[in-house]
Amino acid sequence: MRVLAIGAHPDDLEILCGGTLARYVAEGHEVVMATVANGDLGSFVHQRPEIAGLRAAEARASAAVAGAEHLTMGIPDGEVSAASPDQRRMMVDLVREARPDVLITHPPDDYMTDHNQASQLVFETSFLATLPLLETARSHHPIVTPLIYMDTIAGLQFEPSEFVDITDHLDTKLAMLAEHRTQLEWLRDHDDVDMLEQLRTVARFRGLQCGVTYAEGFRPCNVWLRATTRRLLP
Ligand SMILES: [Zn+2]
Repeated sequence: MRVLAIGAHPDDLEILCGGTLARYVAEGHEVVMATVANGDLGSFVHQRPEIAGLRAAEARASAAVAGAEHLTMGIPDGEVSAASPDQRRMMVDLVREARPDVLITHPPDDYMTDHNQASQLVFETSFLATLPLLETARSHHPIVTPLIYMDTIAGLQFEPSEFVDITDHLDTKLAMLAEHRTQLEWLRDHDDVDMLEQLRTVARFRGLQCGVTYAEGFRPCNVWLRATTRRLLP
């Protein structure tokens, strides 16, 4: 199976579904970790081009830890927009390039606009990617890909309906996030949070909800052409 996970910023996938992505890879599936924005507003100490470069390197290193491929659209932070014709075309091409059997992205009501716009962008363009008359650089993707929403940051306002046991992959998830060194500092200084600790706490809480030690929670987007009888999560 080919898995395309799309996060708004470098580090979101690691926080919200990194254990599941690592488990997909361990079970023989191909995983693409894609980010929409380049993370260029996430710093107190670097200028925007500099932090964008550092974060791209961190994202590549994290994907390598998981054994996944890394792609990015490179949109500036704060400018992710589902209404942008350019971004819609880029996302159609990203889906057509990755040819996923399953898509994972943010739910539409997370805590900041880039996350919510990325969610809407993925929902809308993964349908458009199937239309052969919509010409882009790549030919159409043959299926309206099932879409699964990952957790919100800190699990707020998110009720999972499916869980993935990541007990054996928590260390990989932590190692993936640890590659995002600039962001561990940024989140500490800007949001007063130890994100590695938050990651472990949320994974433990989701684990308590489903009877394992550590888990990640998900909610399939069950609309027509996406709903399926198949279990697509590991
Ligand atoms: Zn983010």
